[in-house]
Amino acid sequence: MRFKSGVVLWLMHYRIIQLLRNGSTLDLVFQSHAGRDCIVTAGRDGKHHGDSYIDGSDHYDGRALDCRTRDMNARQIQQTAADLKAELGDNWFILIEPSHIHIAYDPEHRYAR
Ligand SMILES: [Zn+2]
Repeated sequence: MRFKSGVVLWLMHYRIIQLLRNGSTLDLVFQSHAGRDCIVTAGRDGKHHGDSYIDGSDHYDGRALDCRTRDMNARQIQQTAADLKAELGDNWFILIEPSHIHIAYDPEHRYAR
C-alpha cells in the first residue's frame, strides 16, 4: 500500500482502515491488474477537479478512498473495478473516475450499484 503525499486519513471509518493494510484486497487487486500496490490518492481530503458530483461527501465522512489509475489503461481499470466489486461485496460502492477509482463504504446503499 502506498500513499500520495499529503493524503489525509485521520478518523477514517474502521472498514476503510481495514482496507489500508499492506497485502489487503486493494493491494492484491491492483497487483494483479496494474502490477503494483494500490496507491491511495485521497482519503478524508476528497473532491478533486474532474470528479463526479457523487464523489464528495463520503470522503469528508471518512468513508471513501481514491486509488490511482492514471498509469493504467481502460481495460485494466475496468477489470480492477470489477474485481473490487466482487471481492469487497455489496456494502461497497465502486466508481470509476477520470484519474482514480473511488471506493466508498456504503452499507445503506445510498448509491445504486
Ligand atoms: Zn473519491
